[in-house]
Amino acid sequence: GTRVLLASRPTGRPTAENFRIEPMPIPTPAEGQVLLRVLFLSLDPYMRGRMDDRKSYAAPNPLGAVMEGGTVAEVVESRHPDYAAGEVVLSYSGWQTHALSDGKDLRKLDPAAAPLSTALGVLGMPGFTAWSGLRNIGQPKPGETLVVAAASGPVGSAVGQIARIHGARAVGVAGGPEKCRFVRDELGFEACLDHRAPDFAEQLRAACPDGVDVYFENVGGAVWDAVFPLLNTFARVPVCGLVSQYNGATPGNTDRLPGMMREVLSRSLLIRGFIQREFAAQQPEFRTEMAGWIKDGRVRYREDIVDGLEHAPEAFIGLLEGRNFGKLVVRVG
Ligand code: NDP
Repeated sequence: GTRVLLASRPTGRPTAENFRIEPMPIPTPAEGQVLLRVLFLSLDPYMRGRMDDRKSYAAPNPLGAVMEGGTVAEVVESRHPDYAAGEVVLSYSGWQTHALSDGKDLRKLDPAAAPLSTALGVLGMPGFTAWSGLRNIGQPKPGETLVVAAASGPVGSAVGQIARIHGARAVGVAGGPEKCRFVRDELGFEACLDHRAPDFAEQLRAACPDGVDVYFENVGGAVWDAVFPLLNTFARVPVCGLVSQYNGATPGNTDRLPGMMREVLSRSLLIRGFIQREFAAQQPEFRTEMAGWIKDGRVRYREDIVDGLEHAPEAFIGLLEGRNFGKLVVRVG
């Protein structure tokens, strides 16, 4: 087998040297355990935070340990009463070809119900993040305007499409004309703007003539700067992620906080951070609803599948810079 370890902690942008790819022996399951062979590994922006040694909602990835991550895996050997060889499960096996599990972190998947990789994307954690952030915080209403960035990715693409199902106008923000075309023409957003365009803020204003009622915050930075003046009274801002800041924040912003708070008050804004796990009890409802929308063609998704675990580090580094186009997944097995 093969595994990828966290070799050192990055300062700023991660590099290949922060990872170590090495061979590993195939482990043997003890009584009560299963041996898993990883089929797909999910690469997600949150992994950048785990590479740092800093207090956060989750503990840092230990140095010298396997990189953590969500996976789809096949049971190859079982000494657990609830699992049989050949079954496919959602697991948290990390960046490695094989892993042991005691079954507590596993959920069985039906390979006939949906492509297995979707359990890491539209039907998995990112899809649930979109769904739960809107259900509990954003609450788009008919005729309202919603803005979301990283709009071609798994979270943003689901956010805009769900908002449209609820009757809102979805305005996307993405990097480059190809992604913007996809978001408009394939996903059906009313508009999609390139955040790298020099006149991005003016374009956004023109695309939101009635202001912004829901801003689903995925990126922070310059996009937030452009959206903030457009927020309507009673606007809701689910704060989901700040990917533009993950490789190091732009310094010197703190003096704008008092002005921002004045606006939060005068416009009765709701700015509410969340980690999807908070809403975990709603996952069964999400899976039923989302599976129905995919079947009806009301929600579409795009995957960016990279072959081979040895390519995971470069693919992950690219994810933080927008080099992925769709949900980034590594085909491991
Ligand atoms: P994506 O696959 O969309 O990848 C991240 C995207 O961010 C890139 O493709 C890029 O798209 C965009 N991006 C990167 N840098 C910038 C920048 N400086 N300005 C604007 N956009 C940028 O990721 P996900 O859909 O998996 O995740 C989206 C967000 O949701 C992330 O912030 C993530 O951390 C967060 N998240 C939060 C969860 C929670 O529980 N709170 C759970 C899951 C995800 P482009 O080329 O279009 O700019």
